[in-house]
Amino acid sequence: MSFLNAEEPSVVELITDFGLNILWHPTTGLQIGDQVQDLLKDIIAGKVQMDILVYEGSLIQGPNNTGSMNFFADRPMMDWIKELSEVAGYVVAIGDCATWGGIPAVPPNPSESTGLQFHKKKKGGFLGANYVSKGGLPVINIPGCPAHPDWITQILVAISVGRIGDVQIDDYHRPKTFFTDFVQTGCTNVVNFAQKVDGGFGKRGHGCLFFEVGCRGPMTRASCNNILWNRQSSKTRANHPCLGCTEPGFPHHDLMKGSVLKTMKHLGVFPKEVPTGRNKLAYYMEAGFQKVMPTNNQVHQASK
Ligand code: SF4
Ligand code: SF4
Repeated sequence: MSFLNAEEPSVVELITDFGLNILWHPTTGLQIGDQVQDLLKDIIAGKVQMDILVYEGSLIQGPNNTGSMNFFADRPMMDWIKELSEVAGYVVAIGDCATWGGIPAVPPNPSESTGLQFHKKKKGGFLGANYVSKGGLPVINIPGCPAHPDWITQILVAISVGRIGDVQIDDYHRPKTFFTDFVQTGCTNVVNFAQKVDGGFGKRGHGCLFFEVGCRGPMTRASCNNILWNRQSSKTRANHPCLGCTEPGFPHHDLMKGSVLKTMKHLGVFPKEVPTGRNKLAYYMEAGFQKVMPTNNQVHQASK
């Protein structure tokens, strides 16, 4: 659904301007039933060329590594993926489930879910740490819950015009173009973060969401506040905390009760996690200092 919302470029532009031939997609594909099976078999047999395999969803290996919890076109989905990945020019994993297992892979993980080439932060996953596609690249990961549609279509364009070699990927195989800056970059609450002004969930313009309601913008690499969603907004612009959905630790805290939308703290005061790259003690000292200093706004009010 996210993919169909792409705007720069749109799905139609992928086809008309960039010449992509979408062999099959669960929403747009015309083939059903046996036709899908025949197409997939032809791809595996080399009768139909598949340049890009785009996969969404956890690789479900349960129960007991049979994969029978997730049947597709009359056999375990994981069996299709194993064979399709052997003939694919490039493999692109979309969303947290396909990249690192996502919510289904949270312990105790009864469905034995994993990602295509990572299991949470650990390299390996379903295809193994050493997998490379025929094009010579490992799985390209576009995480998110959901993944931003334009991240998807722009990577597909890079592959289709032969420029994917120019796209650098990070340690988690994410294209650096989209996953170098933090969500905080471009957040409209960032002044409140700097001045340590607390904000409440949904209270527009009331402050930063980091201190009480668990915003993970300072430790989450994604361009949500630069490439806006629907060209309009983002979670933090709408005063909803960032959940950190593009990081392999997502959903973080293993969904323990009371751990979501709440800032975990030591002694009820010090945030357990501080912005990525910051020394904890230095951050606590700076935050304490900022807290006792009047904000620009307070100075302005006092001077009236
Ligand atoms: S912590 Fe969240 S709400 Fe606060 S400035 Fe950073 S991204 Fe925005
Ligand atoms: S703002 Fe955070 S939770 Fe929301 S889509 Fe971006 S990275 Fe994911």
